[in-house]
Amino acid sequence: MSPTVDSLLPLSFLEAVRNVDTPDDDPDTELVAELRNKRLGLSDTVYAQIRRYSDAVKRSQRTARDEAVALARLIGRRPDAEAVFRAAGRYLANEAYQGISAMTRRVMLTLPSLVARPIALRHAGRIVTRYFNGTVSRVGSSVLLEVPSSVTIDSAPRSIGCAYYEAGLAELLRLLINGGGAVDHVRCIARGEGTCSWRAEWRPLN
Ligand SMILES: [Zn+2]
Repeated sequence: MSPTVDSLLPLSFLEAVRNVDTPDDDPDTELVAELRNKRLGLSDTVYAQIRRYSDAVKRSQRTARDEAVALARLIGRRPDAEAVFRAAGRYLANEAYQGISAMTRRVMLTLPSLVARPIALRHAGRIVTRYFNGTVSRVGSSVLLEVPSSVTIDSAPRSIGCAYYEAGLAELLRLLINGGGAVDHVRCIARGEGTCSWRAEWRPLN
């Protein structure tokens, strides 16, 4: 069987394309019609595909990994690829976070860190395993995210695709522990280092 990914992954790519391509302030319809021809994110094809992936997410149907890789390549060709990957990473983190029960989310943000932090780490681990096929571990005062088979690695030159996972981790930490520290890309497949990994501070923003 060929490898698959959670359908939230390709959905996050397309939702990001749509968000980035949607004009900010209430444009007149004529402009939208004009943009529709120029911007992929506003095309009917993308809307239809978003619906397809949304249904797949609801039914817990996975998507072929090759399909997600092909979408990442499509994004990688855009001049604003990095911004789209970052938006996609944030989208995925938010959707995954909403999958945690409301009570657990409240517990993580209100209980003392001694109790809340291990719960947050466990949820970070589950999310990262499910969506990134990766692992999260505590290393001193940091967390380390490791992604051995990045979907975005070959999508664009200069490791631009890695911004997807980096933004996803940053957003996840913001949501789980109110984290806001820098995320460092400490190892990269593109540099021949076998796995992509990121280190971030495991503490809330003060
Ligand atoms: Zn990388």
